[in-house]
Amino acid sequence: MTAQLNPRGDVAVLVPAAGAGVRLGPGTPKALRPLAGEPLLVHAVRRVAAAPSVHTIVVAAPATEVEAVRALLAPVAPVTVVPGGAERQASVAAALAAVPAGPEIVLVHDAARALTPPGLVESVAAAVRDGHDAVIPVLPVVDTVKEVDAAERVLGTVDRSALRSVQTPQGFRRSVLIAAHRSAGDALTDDAGLVEKQGIAVTCVPGSELALKITRPFDLSLAEHLLSAGA
Ligand code: C5P
Repeated sequence: MTAQLNPRGDVAVLVPAAGAGVRLGPGTPKALRPLAGEPLLVHAVRRVAAAPSVHTIVVAAPATEVEAVRALLAPVAPVTVVPGGAERQASVAAALAAVPAGPEIVLVHDAARALTPPGLVESVAAAVRDGHDAVIPVLPVVDTVKEVDAAERVLGTVDRSALRSVQTPQGFRRSVLIAAHRSAGDALTDDAGLVEKQGIAVTCVPGSELALKITRPFDLSLAEHLLSAGA
């Protein structure tokens, strides 16, 4: 059954899904790799669509796969699919340009974080609604972190209590994200980085272990296990 999005919702979710995903090995684009028989992108969109505040979902697909991705997602949820760009930032910008008038909160969510719970979409959106311009879900860093030189010699130990691992969805007041993309220079891997460069405060909320980024074959095995355990 196709999930219905909320016409009174105030959130648009952009899902950049146009990356090649070489770290998962050669093959189809990463977002279309199967996880328990369904592409990562289908899992990701299904969970986003289950978040009650979501009004619009825009997916940036590999340019050669736009029609295929539309057909793939039609039974999952009503989504807009646009061609992505060569860099993640270009894919996000293309999706942002396709958001209709209405939603004033925009979340950017990687398709590779396929098991992200709908509750995390809601908590990021709620923090933006509460007045924060930019919100990121984070986890504490559990490993000891060392800084090394080019020869892998240790230069020092970083104070991990001040470090956070950053996940998606990252949430923004719509006008803030538009302004950040308009003035974007270097390609960054996260949208909050663009907003930081504008001198705008970015606020952290608790992330979720289930929002892990499925990047390497090990992550795929872990995600299969989590799904079979009911995630
Ligand atoms: O490559 P990386 O793992 O950082 O990609 C993060 C997300 O950005 C993935 O969902 C990927 O499909 C997307 N992406 C994109 N367009 C690109 C590169 C990456 O939409 N050109």
